[in-house]
Amino acid sequence: MSDPRTTESRTNESGGAGLDSSGSGNAGLGNTGPGNSESTLTLTTPIQYLPGIGPARAAKLRKLGLRIARDFLFLFPRNHTFPPPPTRVADLQEGEPATFIGTITDAELISRTPGKSLFAAIVENESGAVRIVFFNQPFRAEQLTFDTRVRISGSPKLAGLRWEFTHPNYEIIQEDELQEQDDGGLILANYPLTEGIKQSDLRRLARPLIEELAGQLPEVLPERLRRDAAERLKRTGMELPDALPEIGESLRGIHLPESEADLRAAQTRLVFQELLVMQLALAMRRRSLTSELRAPSLECSATVRNRILRRFPFDLTGDQRRVMDVIAADMARQYPMNRLLQGDVGSGKTVVAIFAMLVAVAGGYQATLMAPTEVLARQHHATLTKMLADSRVRIGLLCGSLTAAERRDTIAKIKSGELDLIIGTQALVYGVQFHQLGLCVIDEQHKFGVKQRVTLRDGGIDPHYLVMSATPIPRSVAMTQFGDVDLSTLREKPAGRGAVHTYLAGDSWRDRWWTFVRQRVAEGRQAFVVAPRVGPEVEAADEELSELVDATEPPAEDITSVHATYEKLRTGPLKDLRVGLLHGRMASDEKQRVMELFAEGELDVLVSTTVIEVGIDVPNATVMAILGGNRFGLAQLHQLRGRVSRGKHAGHVCVFVDGDGPPEEDERLKVFEQTLDGFELAEADYRLRGPGDVLGQRQSGGAKLRIADLHRDMEILQVAREMAQDWIDRDPEMESEGLELLKSQVLRRYGNHLDLGDGA
Ligand code: ADP
Ligand code: MG
Repeated sequence: MSDPRTTESRTNESGGAGLDSSGSGNAGLGNTGPGNSESTLTLTTPIQYLPGIGPARAAKLRKLGLRIARDFLFLFPRNHTFPPPPTRVADLQEGEPATFIGTITDAELISRTPGKSLFAAIVENESGAVRIVFFNQPFRAEQLTFDTRVRISGSPKLAGLRWEFTHPNYEIIQEDELQEQDDGGLILANYPLTEGIKQSDLRRLARPLIEELAGQLPEVLPERLRRDAAERLKRTGMELPDALPEIGESLRGIHLPESEADLRAAQTRLVFQELLVMQLALAMRRRSLTSELRAPSLECSATVRNRILRRFPFDLTGDQRRVMDVIAADMARQYPMNRLLQGDVGSGKTVVAIFAMLVAVAGGYQATLMAPTEVLARQHHATLTKMLADSRVRIGLLCGSLTAAERRDTIAKIKSGELDLIIGTQALVYGVQFHQLGLCVIDEQHKFGVKQRVTLRDGGIDPHYLVMSATPIPRSVAMTQFGDVDLSTLREKPAGRGAVHTYLAGDSWRDRWWTFVRQRVAEGRQAFVVAPRVGPEVEAADEELSELVDATEPPAEDITSVHATYEKLRTGPLKDLRVGLLHGRMASDEKQRVMELFAEGELDVLVSTTVIEVGIDVPNATVMAILGGNRFGLAQLHQLRGRVSRGKHAGHVCVFVDGDGPPEEDERLKVFEQTLDGFELAEADYRLRGPGDVLGQRQSGGAKLRIADLHRDMEILQVAREMAQDWIDRDPEMESEGLELLKSQVLRRYGNHLDLGDGA
């Protein structure tokens, strides 16, 4: 037979006699005709010509993505069924649940009077025999006949010298399906199925193909790489051979494992390969970005650094200092920094951004800070103006509420270099021409999917980028989706923050809550009330909301509309307080005015949509009600909660749930109640929503994953990433010997994504 490497144990059934023999149970063989058994089976043989598959079956199998023989090799099992531990008579214990597998060696039905019967049988395996009995169920005698193999489970009792199961559960072991497993203790692959194709069909079809063809696939991973990977993976505690198995062995190991160790090694190799290919693509892309793009080298001397740090009216956290150092090093290089700074709300990201911007200005370049909303842009502008009041730094603001003349003037000054720091909304800053832009900071970017690289160009020089996000990205996602971005994290909270208390509440809490709000206001605090919807009047047009509320939500007139809530509170439970209204559809100067009133303490209560989610900083606001809490994502709830943990007073967040939401959502809210750490919440969200639902999983680096699971295979991902990075550092084009196939696999899978570097 063509493949001398077929594993020894099976050579005789398949390698020796060829496919015909192992397919001999299938009647459909005739149509392939004699004489073509050895010569015609190749990796590319269309499946309808494979033994046991005719045109009808082939059509069904195509639904599983199977077109040619090779596809069977890559039809990865969903999971595996492990053989049950052999039950031995000697291990049985009185009253302890047990499963026993054996063959019926004796069976007897005794009928006494009509309607009264006793069926008893002896089930035997190599460890001994047990007795099973059924009273008044004569039909058992028809199923449990002599020589039938059964799996019985129940709690045995010792009856005399023999163990006895009374009315056990039992399962007849089908010859074709489980016999192999029971006889040989084999691990069985469970394949994805499609209509008209049974698990046993797939197992039967796959086996000879794998035995025959697995050895014919070319090896993509050279041995030294498989050794290196195994060594690194073993350091994480995995049990593996000295090298990851080669491809043929791995495919046999995943489809037809002979042991758990065999399966584990095979799976590890296949997962590793998939992730390595992805990480090589990402590393190559990162490499090409750094080698093709030029950015100003902005050195930050110790003097400059100290001068900047002196401006902050507090001690920096350790994390802030660490990240500032990293950023300073990035900006000193001649290619653009591309860094994502993530940190929980209130972790002090803005301070880090200000540091970076001042480094750019000190180096003679401009810096821009882009905010997602006008409110936030103005807030940043105010903070910076205050902090830099006595300096020579010239700050400009570019946002929608400027008059046309103001805007023209600002744009002209940006172009001529008369402004050093430009704060604005993303919509306006993109597209503006700068004099010399050294750094571009993008605040509160939490749509990770969108990679909006900027058109800011200045004679081939790109700015450095710093993107800030308060939506923590699970590490697995960060390493794939963001594989070409460097990631920094602020975990430490600035000192002196009040605690936050979170409550989940039903309707009955409302009155008590408004009383609580009145008390806090009487003490001088302020409160937020967040509603998920603007209200029927402006529903459709509100883009802020269309992201956040499921479009299928009925537009019922209910408490979750911000207008209805505002009216109700203003005229009802909070009528003695100064209540303001804020939502995304208001004119921007109107929004601005309301925000300022609230920030200055002229309003006690702000009824709002999630416009306040991003970044608003009013330390005196310590109380928040979130209405319709089950309509928000965990990340969003966490963002909202961040609004009331900014000052020295303890914060209180009450999440009201409308209706009886599905339990899954309740679980999310429970997690929210109990977890303050944004990273833990992100992981929980990822877990609860399932992998299919998360951005990174779906489009990791651009291609769909077939066998790796980013969550489960975190350690392998980490190792693949390190190896890819090391490799590309040494050999950027993957030109060393033996890598040709691996390289072409990278290009085949990710080629389209490799040249995304610029504004695509
Ligand atoms: P983020 O953007 O990460 O949510 P900010 O940068 O807006 O957080 O910081 C939140 C608040 O904490 C601001 O009022 C800021 O001045 C303050 N702050 C930042 N860093 C510190 C620090 N190290 N010590 C004390 N307060 C800080
Ligand atoms: Mg912020």
